[in-house]
Amino acid sequence: MSEQNLYRNPDSSVMYLKGVGPNKASAFNMCGISTIRDLIFYFPRKHLDRSQILSVISAMEYVRDGYDGEITLIGKVLGRELKKAGGKKFLIVKFEDETGSFDCLWFQGVNFFENKFTPGEIYAVSKKPAISKWGILTFTHPDLDKIDYQESVEFNNTGKIIPFYSIPQQLREKSLGDTGLRKLIASAIDLYIESIPETLPSRIVKNLGLLDLKSTIKNYHFPSDFTALQKAIHRLKFEELFYFSLVSLMKLKSETKDKEGIKCKVNPGFILSFLNSLPFKLTNAQLKVLSEIRSDLESGKVMSRLIQGDVGSGKTLVALISILIVIDNGYQTILMAPTEILAFQHYNTILNFLKIFEEITSVKIQIEVLTGSTTKKEKNRIYESISLGETKLIIGTHAIFEEPVTYKNPGLIIIDEQHRFGVDQRAKLIGKGTNPHTLVMSATPIPRTITLTVYGDLNVSIIDELPPGRTPVQTILRGEEKLPAIFRFLEEQAASGFQSYIVFPLVEESEKLELKAAVTEFENITKNHLPNLKLGLLHGKMNWKEKELVMKSFKDREFDVLIATTVIEVGIDVPNATVMLINEAQRFGLSQLHQLRGRVGRGADKSYCILVTKEEIVAASNRIKGETKYLSPVLMERFKSLVRLKAMTETNDGFKIAEIDLKMRGPGDIYGTKQSGMPEFKFADIESDYEIIIKAREVAEQILKDDPKLESFENKIIKNSLYKYHNEGLKYFNIG
Ligand code: ADP
Ligand code: MG
Repeated sequence: MSEQNLYRNPDSSVMYLKGVGPNKASAFNMCGISTIRDLIFYFPRKHLDRSQILSVISAMEYVRDGYDGEITLIGKVLGRELKKAGGKKFLIVKFEDETGSFDCLWFQGVNFFENKFTPGEIYAVSKKPAISKWGILTFTHPDLDKIDYQESVEFNNTGKIIPFYSIPQQLREKSLGDTGLRKLIASAIDLYIESIPETLPSRIVKNLGLLDLKSTIKNYHFPSDFTALQKAIHRLKFEELFYFSLVSLMKLKSETKDKEGIKCKVNPGFILSFLNSLPFKLTNAQLKVLSEIRSDLESGKVMSRLIQGDVGSGKTLVALISILIVIDNGYQTILMAPTEILAFQHYNTILNFLKIFEEITSVKIQIEVLTGSTTKKEKNRIYESISLGETKLIIGTHAIFEEPVTYKNPGLIIIDEQHRFGVDQRAKLIGKGTNPHTLVMSATPIPRTITLTVYGDLNVSIIDELPPGRTPVQTILRGEEKLPAIFRFLEEQAASGFQSYIVFPLVEESEKLELKAAVTEFENITKNHLPNLKLGLLHGKMNWKEKELVMKSFKDREFDVLIATTVIEVGIDVPNATVMLINEAQRFGLSQLHQLRGRVGRGADKSYCILVTKEEIVAASNRIKGETKYLSPVLMERFKSLVRLKAMTETNDGFKIAEIDLKMRGPGDIYGTKQSGMPEFKFADIESDYEIIIKAREVAEQILKDDPKLESFENKIIKNSLYKYHNEGLKYFNIG
């Protein structure tokens, strides 16, 4: 017993465990388990509840009533019999308890099991049973525990909540299965748990009501009940997110506070003359964000900032003012757009803004646009002008960093992000210059959980106000049968001088057929639904010049209705368009729908977003009230898309929509996976662990605020854990 308290080094090889020789140890090594600690932290992939032990009679009742889960029984061996079926041997072992008898069958491992059972022995048996045609309760290849009533009963495979592990091929080859692994882990925990140090300060564990690490480990592998298991998982999620937050915060701090950046001076006269050249006043939200950017630029440290704002909140203008400040200080600036069409739109918008400004001030600012389809000759001219430092603002797509452009003195990089630029690209761009400032603009609002994880290393500014004078877009959900009436409505709008969009979803598999589908829809609507209106067509198979041309003619009101596949999603600005009709709306993600809706309501006139979906879905919405748990999976799927579409009609708030979208679709679908810089958590889940993510960040912030270098005695555990398990974070952190 006194052995229990001996210190044993958990970082020693698994080979030191009883039953693990060099052979098994090397198999473990191949699976990434080299130390005893690794083994102890090799957590189950699932648990089965075998804690309830039934009698044969009640088990029969369960099965007859249609129960088709696992059952655990305890029985005495009566006898065994080898039989043959189809030329193959199989084994039947008969057991009984006080209420009846049952059979266990083996078709595999017959030789092994044949000599395992002696009449009179007692076993616990777990498996999903069947009732044979002779009316006998039968278990095939069950899990077993031999029960020796002389000793205390020791369940390893049955009789309680049982862990199941992923067992890699290498371990299987060494005959290590669930039973063996369970035993091994149990004994490792037994001998080594006292030597595994806590990795969170006790005050955090206590204040947040978390489990301590030792109980966490025990409960995760061998929980007494499912609440204990949940508590263990919760603790590990918190710990993972806490250290993740700590590292992101330190990274943020080292990149902003500690990294020397270009120090800019803001010339109020210059900025004021630009503001005076605008036909409107900045909103308070724009001013607030600008002042945050200004203090970054003036600080002498590198800026890393994310601007979030709903569609139409005026991010571009904020970006432009930041650009002007940096140019005024003698540096070059870069504006990255996700698509060519958007690059050109930014180019034109900025040219327009600057025209009046240049007239007033006679300041001339040279701007160039650079995309994949810029001609070779143009490119060479632009490259030269960039390297000479004549070009002050370069607007473009990825092409900007795929080619060897030499900047004279880049001071600011703005990324107008559509969740398409990953962290790598960001880093690549930043690598181009000597610590230029970075501003990332998010085109769709991002839920806080995502900002805290994917963008945890950026400061965040939020533009939470739309410019005045906008009437909120009215969103309506309609079944397909209402389309004729909707087309009449489009005609009325056209008669009043307004324009409309009609959007069709692009079904991914049919991308090749896109052109055909788009043209077919176009012809169908021209002929059968809107014969009296002028229609334009925009689709993904057009090159940017063709798209530009169509957009320009639409803007110039050369036609009333623009039929489009999703390409119009990206920031197109036509204030005279008042209707956005979206077909098969259920096929779109919410954030995408919100983006599309943002294409209307850009002027002062009342605008509409009409979501058209299968009639039956709309009908279902009237039938189903709240109780979703009784729905079949098929109806549930439909109901899900309905809930999403309903949310669109209920709010115009992009942040709310992003939250709902995240809950319903999951982060991978919306934000992409690895490429978008989505962190991969072992325990936590970005989608469902919202509260833990926020709490972990709060706690990490508070700790760094009180003790930025983790010098205090009570934060020693944190520092040690960082060193040991999260050392990638240390490079951002000047400790030790
Ligand atoms: P975002 O990029 O955030 O979607 P934009 O910058 O494209 O929004 O702005 C949308 C429209 O609102 C543009 O036509 C822009 O000129 C205009 N705008 C921007 N700021 C203001 C403001 N403070 N008052 C009125 N209109 C504004
Ligand atoms: Mg924009």
